[in-house]
Amino acid sequence: MKPFLLSIIIPVYNEEGNILPLLERLLPIVKTLSYEIVFVEDGSKDRTFDIIKKEALHNPHIKLVSFLRNFGHQMALTAGYAHAKGDCVISMDADLQDPPEIILEMINKWQKGSKIVYAKRKERDVDSAFKKTTASLFYRFINFLSETPIPQEVGDFRLLDKEVVDFLNSLPEHSRFLRGLVAWGGFHAEYVYYNREKRFAGETHYPFSKMLNFALDGITTFSTKPLRIASYFGFVSATVGFLGILYALIGKIFQPTFFPHDWVTGWTGLFVGIMFMGGVQLITIGIIGEYISKIYKEVQSRPKYLIQEKINL
Ligand code: UDP
Ligand code: MG
Repeated sequence: MKPFLLSIIIPVYNEEGNILPLLERLLPIVKTLSYEIVFVEDGSKDRTFDIIKKEALHNPHIKLVSFLRNFGHQMALTAGYAHAKGDCVISMDADLQDPPEIILEMINKWQKGSKIVYAKRKERDVDSAFKKTTASLFYRFINFLSETPIPQEVGDFRLLDKEVVDFLNSLPEHSRFLRGLVAWGGFHAEYVYYNREKRFAGETHYPFSKMLNFALDGITTFSTKPLRIASYFGFVSATVGFLGILYALIGKIFQPTFFPHDWVTGWTGLFVGIMFMGGVQLITIGIIGEYISKIYKEVQSRPKYLIQEKINL
């Protein structure tokens, strides 16, 4: 077995109750290897920073990048990939939902030649039915829209070879939907299966509104089909509108022949038509707006995150 360095990157935001229990389970597993654990502290407001700092001061393998403020999960992972020096890099959550015990199995698959090893969920009993259904709908929808198939039941718990990490680090884009970017590269991937556990302490940082934003980001960074669909929508409604115009004109012109009675255009028809057209137009403008906001952010080109402090790095 060739000697190698394993990096584990862990984004943490308000996880004071999880750091020590996580290290207690993780350290015995990685101790026999040469390893580094890179915590990316995403502007926590609790004692997360102090707890990690204390651990890092008497274990040089534990490293810490601390953000100036909260930049979000995907940016924290991005910073983790930028600072990890390992030949393979595993990303995992801090809340013990991702069991560290399967790390060795992941490394095994990597050594056999896989550039990516995804940890795939076998069961999600611990997640609410709502989360399971919305997640499955989301992946089906994004895979319908996107040219890049994104694997289902796979989160941000994965192993990447250095080559894939270098590829991610080389991407200049500011919208970082990492699951999509990793899949986009098309590197050879394998799977390891696990049961998702319950969050050990604290609460999820992904309430419904954030999940929805995450989903929208994923869709707009990986597909331009919504724009195409908006055009189709426009064509269909324009055709229906044109037929309506013909109907109204012909009715008006030939009224004495075909309609001996009074020609009274109904209010219902007008109202329905206006509401329908209004709806289609607003949706279409909204879809275009989503893409414009993506372009706007890329053009502004602000830093992806700001670092306040680094320890052991
Ligand atoms: N996280 C982060 N920044 C954020 C939100 C979350 O670094 O703004 C981290 C969090 O500490 C955890 C991981 O991302 O380690 C996944 O978050 P969470 O467990 O809340 O998501 P869920 O598992 O419920 O989808
Ligand atoms: Mg979690």
